[in-house]
Amino acid sequence: MSESNLIFEGDIGLLKDMTIAVIGYGNQGRAQATVMRDNGLNVIIGNIRDEARERAEAEGFKTYDIDEACKMADMALLLVPDEVAPDVYNKYITPVVRDKEFFILDFASGYNVFYGYIKPLPNMDVIMVAPRMIGEGILNMHRQGKGYPVLIGVEQDVSGKAWEYAKALAAAIGALNREGGVGVRSSFREETLVDLMTEHTWMPLLTASFLIYYKILVEEYNVSPEAVLLELYISGELAETAREMATLGLFEQFRLHSRTSQYGQLTRIKKFLDTDLWDMFRREAEEIASGEFAREWTLEQKCGSPVFRRLMDEFKRSDFARVEDRLLKALGRRR
Ligand code: NDP
Repeated sequence: MSESNLIFEGDIGLLKDMTIAVIGYGNQGRAQATVMRDNGLNVIIGNIRDEARERAEAEGFKTYDIDEACKMADMALLLVPDEVAPDVYNKYITPVVRDKEFFILDFASGYNVFYGYIKPLPNMDVIMVAPRMIGEGILNMHRQGKGYPVLIGVEQDVSGKAWEYAKALAAAIGALNREGGVGVRSSFREETLVDLMTEHTWMPLLTASFLIYYKILVEEYNVSPEAVLLELYISGELAETAREMATLGLFEQFRLHSRTSQYGQLTRIKKFLDTDLWDMFRREAEEIASGEFAREWTLEQKCGSPVFRRLMDEFKRSDFARVEDRLLKALGRRR
């Protein structure tokens, strides 16, 4: 690891005379807009006329239609869902930004630019500040005066200052200049690879292993479903372990578990590493890097998302989901 890949500071002052349009007042938009306003910046919201826009108004922001906001702004943060971003960009942003002398466009994910669904205009700096944190988490860290990790990238640098703007924005949204805050010098490609690789490998593998574990112990070993779900994640032990991984490190946190647990884990990690999981992971990486997955997902959406809906329905109606619902209600976590 090269230490120069890590960035800890940005100069918010670079943005102080700008009008910054946050496009989309959702998970990320609301959090990033709020922190930037608290940092003394001039933030406006561009949103369709919906509940999110009403919320932004109720929370004291000036709100506009997306094209109006971009017309007034020097910089825009495109914080709408990735599936709709190309449409929003083509319909509402390019027509009003095309004739400006200079504009800065920021993304919180590399997806659309990396796969070419969004083609930047030549008068733009195109930057990425991609939080490794959900919106609520950003607000929580901000309240505690703490920073958080972001991946930072520059796709197009017409001003010669795009990296400085990106770092300034990372500081403005509360990621840098604070304890615990760190930026990784990254790229739109890299952000897309790590993001989708998580979504296509260890995360689904974790869920799949829960489902297999459940089926084997409940159906073949007469174990109670409640004992299984508490053991797997509902007790919160998994979340605690994940926190310790981030604090102590993946292997140092082993010492918090019994020797029996440590021996069992270490030997079984070895066994799993000797299976064809490698081929499966490699295949996923290839599908992501080549754009095959992106094309599959675009086609799925064009067809009205039938596979997405069928699978969601299948899992939500499963025995596992029914038991989980009962347990969460009994624990008072779900009504
Ligand atoms: P949200 O799903 O919260 O939506 C953001 C906003 O976009 C909402 O105000 C939403 O309105 C609006 N919107 C939805 N559809 C349209 C449309 N067709 N036209 C115009 N506006 C629309 O998005 P996120 O905040 O989750 O994601 C924004 C970006 O941040 C994405 O690039 C994502 O990859 C990235 N990101 C997200 C993270 C997260 O924690 N969620 C973490 C890191 C990066 P409405 O509420 O009415 O639907």
